[in-house]
Parts: sequence; C-alpha cells; structure tokens
Amino acid sequence: MTQVDIREDGVVARPLPMVVGPTRPAPSVLARLAEPAPALTDPAFLAEYGHCLARFREVVGSASAEVVITPGTGTTGMEALAASFLRPGVPVLIASTGMWGDRWRDICTRMGVPARAPRSAVGRVPDPALIRRLLADCQALLITHVDSSSGVRCDVAELAAIARERGMPCLVDGMAGLGADEVDFDAWDIDAYLAGPSKGLAAPPGLAMVAIAGRAAARLRERDWTPTSYSLDLAPWLPAMAAAERGEPAYVQTPAGNLLLALAEALRLVLAEGVGARVARHARLRDILYTGLADLGVDLLAPEPGERPNGVTVCQVPNGVDEWRLLAAVADHGVLLQAGTYSRTGRGTFRIGHLGNVTEADIASTLAAVRAGLLDSRRDT
Ligand SMILES: *Cc1c(COP(=O)(O)O)cnc(C)c1O
Repeated sequence: MTQVDIREDGVVARPLPMVVGPTRPAPSVLARLAEPAPALTDPAFLAEYGHCLARFREVVGSASAEVVITPGTGTTGMEALAASFLRPGVPVLIASTGMWGDRWRDICTRMGVPARAPRSAVGRVPDPALIRRLLADCQALLITHVDSSSGVRCDVAELAAIARERGMPCLVDGMAGLGADEVDFDAWDIDAYLAGPSKGLAAPPGLAMVAIAGRAAARLRERDWTPTSYSLDLAPWLPAMAAAERGEPAYVQTPAGNLLLALAEALRLVLAEGVGARVARHARLRDILYTGLADLGVDLLAPEPGERPNGVTVCQVPNGVDEWRLLAAVADHGVLLQAGTYSRTGRGTFRIGHLGNVTEADIASTLAAVRAGLLDSRRDT
C-alpha cells in the first residue's frame, strides 16, 4: 500500500506526487467512491448527475453549452471528439504544440481522417498566420489548450477565431487546463472543450468531460454520415444528458456512477473556492515556483512567460545532469516529478505538475527536493 497522509486539503500520497495527474482528491471526493455503484434510476443519483453536469458547464464558463460526461480517459475523449465530429476522408488541421498534438494526429489518421499537423517551434504556441493558411480545405481545427508535454498554453480565443472565420469547428483538448487555467467557453466561441477529472479538478480519473456549443451539438444531430465507432459516438449522449439534468434516467452505456458522484463533489468544491480564485491561486503558486527554479538555475522549456500555463511546468534538465538520476534523487527527497514526454525534447526535460489542490507548502517542498536532488545528481557524476 502507498503511504498516505490525510490532510485538510486532501489525501496525499508519500512521496508527494507533483505530477500532472492524478492529483490529490479531497477526502469528501474520495468518500464517494466507497458507496455502492448507484442504480441509474435512483432519484438521488440522478439529482447528483444533474448537478455534476450543471457544475461542469459553469466551470467551463458557459451559460448554454451541452455537456456530456462519459466513461473513459482523456484519450477516450479525444477519440470520441474525432469519431463524432470528423468525417473520414476530409482533412483536419491540428495546431500541434507537443505530444498531445501528435496524439490527435495519430487518432485522426487511424480514423481515416487525413491529418495536417504542423508542429510549433519547441516550447512555443502555434503561428496564427500558418494556421490560417493551412486551414483552407480542412473540416476542423484541433488544438491543445495546455500541452503538458511542452508546458505551452495556447491562446484559444485567437486560434478559434481563425476557425470561426471559415465557419469551421474548433475542438479543444483542455485536459490539463480546466481547474488551473482560465477557461471562457462562451467568450472563446469554441465548438467543444474536452476536460478530465484527475488534473486541475482533483477527482479520480476515468471520465471524459466534453462541453459542446449549441451549433456543434446541432452538427452532431444533423450529421449525414455514421461514425465508424459505436461506443465513442457522442450524439446519443446528448439527449441522455439533457434527461439527467431533468432528473430522468436515459440509458446509453452504464455510467461510471461512483466516479460521477466523486466528480460532482470535486466540482462543488471548485465552485465553492470560486473559479476565478482557483485560477488566481494556481497563477500565484506557479510564480513562486518559477522564482525558486530560477534561483536554482533551472530554465523552462517555454521561453515566453505569456505562453506558459498555470499548472504544468516543463523544465530543461541542467547541463551535465542525467534526467533519470535527477528524478530518482528528487524522489529520494520526498517528491515525485515526471520525465519529459515530448519526442522532440527527448530526455532533455522534466515536468512538474502543480494543479488541483496544490498549496504553497507543496511548492516549497518541491523546490527543496529539486535543490537537494540537483546537488546529489551532480555529486554522483
Ligand atoms: C493527460 C492529458 C491527456 C490524456 O489523458 P489520459 O486520461 O491520460 O488519456 C490528453 N491531453 C492532455 C493535454 C493531457 O494533459
């Protein structure tokens, strides 16, 4: 068994996981997992299901988006968006900032959707002029809000506007964004935003959460082609989610009831903190982390401060230090960090997740462990 500490702000495993996800859940969130899986016709469950959907809509900043929460991981959600919205045989443009753009590309390719996937310079956001130029004969624009492999945050509104000029849907992977960075679904005028429970929202993994604009939901309802996947099609979920919000059961696939109950509680806590206050907390802690890393001589992969997210930091491994030796030494000092995951940076980066129920004490522990780990790994070489 992992050693855990039960604290007011969450249940913390030791060593302290400063990872992009899963992040530590509040005790009241974890408690929902210990209940028997609810029956789909249980009125109390339906009420919570409805709250979960309404809270998700509020947290993404929408008054009217249709929201769908299905069983699965973030990757399932990406695949569901592609299967539901992208017509096979018609090209799609992917504004890639890292491994998640690469994953969009691989998903589309397997689904028979030709993927045009220019990669931004490492650590930089996509070039809007290039996106505008390449979008011409595509059916949709796919972007990653916060790329947790490169530590880059896109300007979603700016890219979405380019798609809107052409009346084309813009689908956004916000897995590492929601709960830590500002999301303004209605103002951004996007078609779909994908989120997950286990990063900024601090709930257990296992659900894919998708907010869908009215015009995009209409596209799904009026689609004159059939997706090749049955279980990934989001269209049948739309009426079922609307029913759940009315307190009525509707079956599509067995809902992951306990995970929905846990997520409903996690979203309640997000709204109790206040979405704006939560984003501000993440920004403040990120700045403390940056100052500490700069003191240690650790450079970040993303050179432009305005292009960095609030909850994920991708660091350059200092010269002469081995990535694995550094991560092992930091773990010896009580903090788990993550290796680099972007193929273009190879072993030259390591990653720090500081999202969800993260506190100033966590940042201090992280900086202390990185300081000690750097000393150890330099001593060893
Ligand atoms: C974590 C993450 C995913 C994938 O989520 P899984 O639940 O691991 O499938 C997708 N996109 C981004 C940006 C992520 O950070």
